Amino acid sequence: MKDNKFTVNEKGYYGEFGGAFIPELLYPNVEELRKNYLGIINEPTFQKELNSLLQDYVGRPSPLYFAKRMSEHYKTNVFLKREDLNHTGAHKINNTLGQILLAKRLGKTRIIAETGAGQHGVATATVCALMNMECVVYMGEVDIKRQAPNVARMKLLGAKVVPALSGSKTLKDATNEAIRDWINHPLDTYYIIGSVVGPHPYPDMVARFQAVISAEIKIQLAEKTGRDYPDYVVACVGGGSNAAGAFYHFMNDKRVQLIAVEAAGKGIHSGHSAATSVLGRPGIIHGSKTLLMQTEDGQITEPYSLSAGLDYPGVGPIHAHLHKTGRARFASVTDEQALKAAFLLCRLEGIIPALESAHALAELENLKAKEQEVLVLNLSGRGDKDMETYISKLAIGD
Ligand SMILES: *Cc1c(COP(=O)(O)O)cnc(C)c1O
Repeated sequence: MKDNKFTVNEKGYYGEFGGAFIPELLYPNVEELRKNYLGIINEPTFQKELNSLLQDYVGRPSPLYFAKRMSEHYKTNVFLKREDLNHTGAHKINNTLGQILLAKRLGKTRIIAETGAGQHGVATATVCALMNMECVVYMGEVDIKRQAPNVARMKLLGAKVVPALSGSKTLKDATNEAIRDWINHPLDTYYIIGSVVGPHPYPDMVARFQAVISAEIKIQLAEKTGRDYPDYVVACVGGGSNAAGAFYHFMNDKRVQLIAVEAAGKGIHSGHSAATSVLGRPGIIHGSKTLLMQTEDGQITEPYSLSAGLDYPGVGPIHAHLHKTGRARFASVTDEQALKAAFLLCRLEGIIPALESAHALAELENLKAKEQEVLVLNLSGRGDKDMETYISKLAIGD
């Protein structure tokens, strides 16, 4: 991927977005990571250990499944990249596994993370158990109450869940606590971030760990269709890690249309949404310059989506750049449309998707792909965690 204007430059920017806007006290931690991450990730022994765990622990490669009935329904060729079949039920483990191996190489013994809905916390607690590392997960007090099953999972896996008691007691407050912890423990502690967000080098590093998704798609698609690229790749975007991974090896291939799907919640202009590419303006969140939902005077707007994983007020800088350059088309899908698409997949293919992934599925209604075209949809996770929501809304799909 040489000369790729969609990958990060030496300064940590994608076009005008990215960078590392961090407190002075955090500089040594981030600088240690920036100096070392590429060297470590590219070591053959690192690659060997990562690939072996991706295969035997995560269950990769995840299948690329030709969804016959979905294809008939939409009169095109739909392939589902089955990240839902990964250990722990989503793509997040690709990243946490990569980062914990990196932390080990850096000589760290203690892992911290922040989590909103708890899914990144669970993926982090999982790899900490695997690697015998101490694990502290910061979580807003409000989220701890809302997400009791994931809190229980983290504890079962041996993690300590610390409530963030300040502000709105949700994700951004948990992030502040995690940063404070990292400043206080610069030597032994590594901070695992869960999406393509945060200061450079996190967005690039996370995108590289998730790029296994599109690397596999190329091989699998060549086997199944004789062509190693599709006409479309469709993925949902919260922070944007599963989309970055699914797009990664196609970013320079203009034959491939990249479709990023955000959560419109109750409607883009309802005041209850997370459609950052439409509503956002450039600003700084979690240490990087990107598109951000904010008020006139720069206060971050509370995002909303029925799906916890898409409920984020920004997007990673890579997506801000893909949006700005027009390389990816950004769409948004409401709660209702996502639910309908989730129920459709259940009935047509016998697969219960995560509510996040259902946003990508809903975009198939609008896409109008042609009969001979090939579309790959990244099914980022499974629906077990969303059963309560599905049950409460089931009347809609009946
Ligand atoms: C967390 C999550 C997402 C959103 O995160 P990205 O970084 O945008 O991929 C999407 N789908 C599932 C299943 C998730 O768990």
